[in-house]
Amino acid sequence: MSVKQNGEAIQAEIDKLCARCGRDPNEINIVAVTKYVSVQTAQEALSAGFVHIGENRAEGLGEKWDSLQGEAVWHFIGSLQSKKVKKVIDKIDYLHSLDRISLAKELDKRLEHGKQLKCFVQVNVSGEESKAGLAPAEVIPFIRELEAYQSLQVVGLMTMAPFVEEPEETRAVFRRLRLLKEEVSALNLPHAPCQELSMGMSNDYQVAIEEGATFIRIGSALVGREADR
Ligand SMILES: *Cc1c(COP(=O)(O)O)cnc(C)c1O
Repeated sequence: MSVKQNGEAIQAEIDKLCARCGRDPNEINIVAVTKYVSVQTAQEALSAGFVHIGENRAEGLGEKWDSLQGEAVWHFIGSLQSKKVKKVIDKIDYLHSLDRISLAKELDKRLEHGKQLKCFVQVNVSGEESKAGLAPAEVIPFIRELEAYQSLQVVGLMTMAPFVEEPEETRAVFRRLRLLKEEVSALNLPHAPCQELSMGMSNDYQVAIEEGATFIRIGSALVGREADR
């Protein structure tokens, strides 16, 4: 199947889910995660109408950005080491993995004067040791501290659910993130409108949408995986 066909199937699924749970499909942004594929396949995603491109490493982002820069909205979705900030800072529109003050400080220092970066605070809802992100109880104090870094705008929260055979098992994780997002947005902090939820991947995006996702990050189901990567 081509990227275009995969995309159409996913969009049809989203439309169906939204009709069922009373959501507007236009609220749901699909981030095409191109970390497993070539520049050419990323280009195919753009041609098929997917403008949001996500990468989880500075090298992969650089490679795609060098060829496609102005055509896409760029999302950095992986853990970001502070020393890699200078490599990505001028390329990205969204960071999905803000998880510590030292990173906020580095981003704020490197951002061009007057520019703002849209950030998701990453939350480790499930508490798995292998996962990055803050514990739910740490999120509000962390976001309050981010007020000191005026170039960072907290647009929402992000999580990765545990990988399970049965996607339904991820529902509690997504629901918890949504409730936490509502708590943060109710604080009315100018630097943290926190209206968005980045959650759901190829295997669990349906459940994430039912629980309120506004950015789903889809790799293999959309662009596939290329063997030499
Ligand atoms: C790789 C990756 C995805 C996409 O994974 P798929 O299962 O291929 O859809 C989403 N989010 C993050 C943070 C990733 O690293």
